[in-house]
Amino acid sequence: MTKPCIQDLLTMYSTPDVTTGCILWTGRTRKKGYGVMQVAGKALSSHRVAYELEYGPIPEGLHILHKCDTPACINPLHLFAGTNAENIKDKQAKGRQPKGEEVGGSFLKEDQIREIKILLDTIWPHILPELHKENGKIRTTWLT
Ligand SMILES: [Zn+2]
Repeated sequence: MTKPCIQDLLTMYSTPDVTTGCILWTGRTRKKGYGVMQVAGKALSSHRVAYELEYGPIPEGLHILHKCDTPACINPLHLFAGTNAENIKDKQAKGRQPKGEEVGGSFLKEDQIREIKILLDTIWPHILPELHKENGKIRTTWLT
């Protein structure tokens, strides 16, 4: 029996979605639903592997983004290469930018932020507008 090639693995561990045109990875996935596959002992993102098989090597530092906004999709026609800035812009456009507790480095829980906001609104209502003016790092927009 011969060892399956990478294209065989992509075919074996995927299924087409006739409604959307996506080809959905059915193998192991990462936390956010992106497919992962073992190639030569390395864990690689299946959508990146599918992109490279179709279009060639991914230029250094570029991300592979989904036009279909389906992390498990490996259809090369639904994938495109983009910079980190384009990736962030794409996430924002699709409403997937991390918010609140999901933001990396966030140490306050949503309940704590709400409590702080209530305190600021009720006890120190005159301070809040000043904080917004003086410190752009205070983020309360996600609480609305
Ligand atoms: Zn797709």
